[in-house]
Amino acid sequence: MRIAVARDQAPGEARVAMVPDLVGKLRAAGYQVTVQAGAGSGALLFDPAYEVAGALVTEHPFDEADVVLSVQPLDANCLAPLPSGATTISFFPYAERPTDVALRRERKFTTFGMEYVPRISRAQSMDALSSQALVAGYRGAIVAADMLGQFFPLSMTAAGTVPPAQVVVLGAGVAGLQAIATCRRLGAVVKGYDVRAAAAEEIRSMGAQAIELPLPTLEGAGGYAREMTEDRAQRQRELLASYIAAADALITTAAVPGRRAPLLVTTEMIMQMAPGSVVIDLAAEAGGNVEGVVAGSVVRVGPVQLWGGANVPSQMPGPASRLYAQNVLNVIMLMTRDGRFAPDFDDEITSAMCVTHAGNVLRDGG
Ligand code: NAD
Repeated sequence: MRIAVARDQAPGEARVAMVPDLVGKLRAAGYQVTVQAGAGSGALLFDPAYEVAGALVTEHPFDEADVVLSVQPLDANCLAPLPSGATTISFFPYAERPTDVALRRERKFTTFGMEYVPRISRAQSMDALSSQALVAGYRGAIVAADMLGQFFPLSMTAAGTVPPAQVVVLGAGVAGLQAIATCRRLGAVVKGYDVRAAAAEEIRSMGAQAIELPLPTLEGAGGYAREMTEDRAQRQRELLASYIAAADALITTAAVPGRRAPLLVTTEMIMQMAPGSVVIDLAAEAGGNVEGVVAGSVVRVGPVQLWGGANVPSQMPGPASRLYAQNVLNVIMLMTRDGRFAPDFDDEITSAMCVTHAGNVLRDGG
C-alpha cells in the first residue's frame, strides 16, 4: 500500500507530516512511501534525505495513494486526483470546513483528524495537540525573552546586581507549563495561574510560584477547564491585575475546548505594566486572552508590546515536524494489520479520530 506525504500549502505552514528519519519505519511496516517534491523544505528536510530513506519523491504523489499525510487539511487540488475511498490524516477542524466535509463524504474518503486523538494513556504517543503545544510554549517563552530587552536571570556583578525578570504565565496546560519551564531555565522569577485545581501543584513542580486566587476552580470534562461566567471572569481579572502590573513579561495560553479563548487581560490591565514590558498571547488565533491582540502581529499598547501568536509551532518547523511525524507514525501503526492499512473502527482512538468514512460523516456538527 502507498502512503503519500503532501507538501502543505496553507500560507505560513512550514511543517511537514513525515520526516526522513521515520520513513524507514513505514517501509518496514510494509508501505511504499511517496513524497511530494519539496514537502519538507520549509523544515530544512530536503528531497534527497527522503530518497536516501527509501521514499519516492515526485510532484504528483496522490493518484495512487491509499493514505495521504499532511499537517493542515489537504486543499482541493490535492484531493481531486485521490482515488475514491482514500484516507487522509492531518489536523482537520471539520466545523470550519463544511464544504470540505461534504466533498469527502461524496468521494467516500476516510478522514482522520489528529486533534481528536483522545487524551487517554494509550494514545499519549499520538497526541499531536500536546506535541505542538509543547513547541508553542517553548517558542512563546523564547519570544518573550527576545523582545524584553532585559536579562531574564539574576546577575550579581562587580558593576552591580541585575535583577531577574518577573514573568507571569496564565493557563498552565501543556503550552503554559512548557513556557514556565523555559522561563525558569532562563533564570526568570515565574508565577503561574490556571483555573484547574491540579494545575497549582504542576506549576510548583516547574519551580514557579502558583498564584492562588479566592475563586472556585473550574474543572470540566476530560481534565479540561470549563468556561467562566462573565462575573467570574471580571473577578479573576480584578484579582490578577496586580500580578500583571508587576510582570516584565506576561505569557497567556488559556483555552477551553470548542470555545473562544477566555479574555483574561484588558487594555487597562496592560497599561499598568512598566514601559518595555512584553505580552505574548499564544491563544491569539482562538480569539485571544488579551484585549486588542492580533494573531501574527506585534501591536503596541501604551508602553507595552503585545505579540499575537499565529501558527506558533510552525515557527520551529524542524522539531514540530519531527514530533508531529512521530505522532502520525504511531497512528498509522495503530491502524496497520499484517502490512495493510486496516483501521479498526471499534477501537476507541480510531473512532474518536474519524470524521468521514464510507460516505458517512461521523462527528457531530460535521
Ligand atoms: P488547553 O490548551 O485546553 O488550555 C490551556 C490551559 O488553559 C488549561 O490548563 C486550562 O485549564 C487553562 N484555562 C482555561 N481557562 C482558563 C482561565 N479562565 N484562566 C486561566 N487558565 C485557564 O489545555 P491542554 O494543554 O490541552 O491541557 C488540558 C488538560 O489536559 C491538562 O489537565 C493536561 O494535563 C491534560 N492533558 C492530558 C493528556 C493525556 O492524558 N494524554 C495530554 C495532554 C494534556
